[in-house]
Amino acid sequence: ILEVKDLKVSFKDKKVLRNINVKFKRNKITAIIGPSGCGKSTFLKTLNCLILEDSEASVYGDIIFNSESILSMEREIVRQKIGMVFQNPTPFPLSIYKNMEYALKFYGVSRKKRHEIINEKLKLTGLYDEIKDSLNKSALKLSGGQQQRLCIARALTVEPEILLLDEPCSALDVKNTLNIEKLLTDIKQKYTIIIVTHNLPQARRIADETLFMLDGEVIEFDDTEKIFKNPSDQRTKEYIFGLF
Ligand code: ATP
Ligand code: MG
Repeated sequence: ILEVKDLKVSFKDKKVLRNINVKFKRNKITAIIGPSGCGKSTFLKTLNCLILEDSEASVYGDIIFNSESILSMEREIVRQKIGMVFQNPTPFPLSIYKNMEYALKFYGVSRKKRHEIINEKLKLTGLYDEIKDSLNKSALKLSGGQQQRLCIARALTVEPEILLLDEPCSALDVKNTLNIEKLLTDIKQKYTIIIVTHNLPQARRIADETLFMLDGEVIEFDDTEKIFKNPSDQRTKEYIFGLF
């Protein structure tokens, strides 16, 4: 569904991604792992063109999404097709309902249709029963786990094909983390999910494929079980078996 070709990204003269070539498969969960500062977030931001908003970033190479280059596609279309959720939950300081409505309004979806989609996505993310009586309350009053599920639900309102998540659980406790993991595995039949995580057991629990990055390079990208049981590269071994 998404093919990255000879991708290089630098900030000013600092090379952050060096020649990345990978293909992400439809309806799979791919985990991106690697030490702090190796370029995971930059890579994710490049996959939905967010990086192009950064005036210090230069991007070379190409990213092909359903046989079209996203780097030359209209930003609004890329954002609709490829949604993103960040490390800390980022609801807008608006009501829960308005958060959910935001992108739908932007894309001109009718009021009635908006209502249907909002209920559907809140149900999908398990939030509906918890918050159906407080949709007009501020989203900032929700718990951290609920806020993060709201951000996922909000990203799904515009029916992206790909959902990018940058350490979505790092601010959450174990129960909320497992909630999000279940949610992601439940929805992967409909979406393609790419998740950056420092939590290796988490990658192992939910990811079909795992990509290991080091110093802006992809060292190894394979089935998750292969990566965790029998990695081919010495550097992957060292990272996974904790010799760093
Ligand atoms: P972490 O696991 O800590 O989140 P990461 O793998 O996500 O790390 P990135 O955030 O992608 O790493 O950063 C990779 C490198 O690029 C770092 O050295 C960082 O300082 C640099 N960098 C990231 N964003 C920018 C920016 N906007 N301008 C300049 N340098 C940046
Ligand atoms: Mg990061």
